[in-house]
Amino acid sequence: MISNIITGMQLRYNYRLYPTSGQRAALARAFGCARVAFNDGLRARQDAFASGQPYPTDRELSARLTAAKATPERAWLSEVSAVVLQQALADLNSAYRNLLNSIQGARNGPKVRPPRPRSRKDAKQAIRFTRNARFCITPSAKLRLPKIGDVPVRWSRPLPSAPSSVTVIKDAASRYFASFVIQVEPATLPEAESVIGIDLGLTHFAVLSDGRKTASPRFLRRAEKKLRHAQKYLSRKERGSKNREKARVKVARAYSRVTDARRNFHHQLSTALIRENQALAVEDLSVRGLARTRMAKSVHDAGWSAFVHMLEYKARLYGREFYRISRFEPTSQVCAACGAHEGPKPLHIRVWQCRACDAWLDRDINAAVNVAKAAGLAVSACGAQVGPGAIPAQRSEAGTLRGAA
Ligand SMILES: [Zn+2]
Repeated sequence: MISNIITGMQLRYNYRLYPTSGQRAALARAFGCARVAFNDGLRARQDAFASGQPYPTDRELSARLTAAKATPERAWLSEVSAVVLQQALADLNSAYRNLLNSIQGARNGPKVRPPRPRSRKDAKQAIRFTRNARFCITPSAKLRLPKIGDVPVRWSRPLPSAPSSVTVIKDAASRYFASFVIQVEPATLPEAESVIGIDLGLTHFAVLSDGRKTASPRFLRRAEKKLRHAQKYLSRKERGSKNREKARVKVARAYSRVTDARRNFHHQLSTALIRENQALAVEDLSVRGLARTRMAKSVHDAGWSAFVHMLEYKARLYGREFYRISRFEPTSQVCAACGAHEGPKPLHIRVWQCRACDAWLDRDINAAVNVAKAAGLAVSACGAQVGPGAIPAQRSEAGTLRGAA
């Protein structure tokens, strides 16, 4: 079971689908028709732009699609649900809207690229059915899709309410998924006493202001290791060979296993943190900024932004307070015990002693406490202080130790 937020309180619920061979053929046809609807619309806009004609509106594209179905060249578009085609156009329209907003600066985040044609070779194929397509779940718990049939579903957990749309996806590993959009009403959890600051790091996935450290779970590390092996194997295969194709499928499978395992881990950890704490603060990491450095791979793998996003929507869902602290706060430079500014320290310094108050501090936990304090949360700095057992007897001159954490 996978769920994540789209907008507001809409959640996605994803399930594995097991279409029959006939249904797979029908789906392939629907993916193809949706691609054509999308690409025809894209070309119409590109041609209009190139020849100085006015921009074809959403409504015009829709009318052209209907007209095209009446022509012999495009008559086969009628073989699939009309909603699938209209939804492909809707994707094109929102791609243009995002592009326009990005150009005008009304949209945050990375620059949006102009839409490009969809291809049969794209790793992911998808079609969307909205409610007016009359998709439904049959009494025998299959997903009934117009002009596709009753597709078997593995219901890894029940759907909480009637979905407003379903997207059928085929991934690079040739697996099929149904992704339902569900309107979720905020729930309440019993009030919790504790508040927490969270530092997301490279040595540990998450370090908490109460001193706890969470590493990536073994199942995720194992899946990642398998993926690296599969990638290495693929890189040694000759281009265009049959073995290369087999290796490519293996990499795609290993990759989706890593993605699933990581998402599960994020869900478990974020749910536990939301249950335990009334208020949560996390550093607002600019993953994009970090990704340019040599840390890129591990940053990417750690999936921090996906995790923070999950924490944020679960906080909203369950009525917890959630704070993002600007990354310009020097969380690793200030002593959480006395507030003295100790200046930047190289990454290998894991434990240091404050020159003002003599407290021995764990770099990551100290940062987590500072994140909580920056959000105005009343946390104790005790968690950041290293117990006597962890303090090596020898004291270095600079007041810092390496490798002790
Ligand atoms: Zn201090």
